Amino acid sequence: MQPSDAALAARAHAGADALALALRGRTIAVLTGAGISTESGIPDYRGPGTTARARNPIRFAEYAASESGRARYWARAMVGWPRFCAAEPNAGHHALAQLQRRGCTGAPITQNVDALHQAAGSTDVIELHGTLHRVRCLDCGALESRHDVQARLVAHNPALEHARRFDPEAREVRPDGDVELPARLLADFVVAACLRCGGTLKPDVVFFGESVPAEVVADAYARVEAAEALLVVGSSLAVFSGYRFVRRAHELGRTVAIVNLGPGRGDAYASVRVDAPAGAVLTALAERL
Ligand SMILES: [Zn+2]
Repeated sequence: MQPSDAALAARAHAGADALALALRGRTIAVLTGAGISTESGIPDYRGPGTTARARNPIRFAEYAASESGRARYWARAMVGWPRFCAAEPNAGHHALAQLQRRGCTGAPITQNVDALHQAAGSTDVIELHGTLHRVRCLDCGALESRHDVQARLVAHNPALEHARRFDPEAREVRPDGDVELPARLLADFVVAACLRCGGTLKPDVVFFGESVPAEVVADAYARVEAAEALLVVGSSLAVFSGYRFVRRAHELGRTVAIVNLGPGRGDAYASVRVDAPAGAVLTALAERL
């Protein structure tokens, strides 16, 4: 049975009390995952109610080697983009931005690729897995805004754009989701090429089969090590890219606090664990720090 709204609100306030007690007066690093963005309508494939990631995430090797794999990826990305980039930051993002502005916490280190922390006003965000808002050329390294690439995709594929607006099957698709486009909508899809060299574009995110860039990992470790506490929000820490920071904070004797719906791999390291929606917990925490 799902807990009632009142029960969740009570849990959020009690959780914020416990967090404030553990964190007040300490320098705090912040690590966030998909769970902070679910209240903005972006799905969390590891959250409660799901047992796995997106059904068929494309691996980097397939993306780099397969023209049809890239076409499938970009067709889905083109259809899902308008809704993905229309997502707005929620109370949790706003609370973290406010805490950063007031000097209570450091800038977020995030596993998310939605740029919602920045939209809420957070600065110096470390994006462990990159961002869907930027595109990189695999051949010459040129960077381009995803919005500009979207305009070219739409120009190259007017029939798919029409389907995106009017075909119910296309409306289910999200760029990071597990809904595949029907083959009839995928036929003859034309990808966008690099404007500088004509090469292969890829969203500037870390795909399965790729590693987080070493300098990004080093920056994130430095932030975690410099702080007296680590606040983890909305991540079950199932992937190593986030888990390692919790392990390091624990090794260094730092306070680890976790806000997440459902259990996670870092729970054993946490001195405070709050199982409630991030938006309500962080809003209450911002009132207490
Ligand atoms: Zn290029």
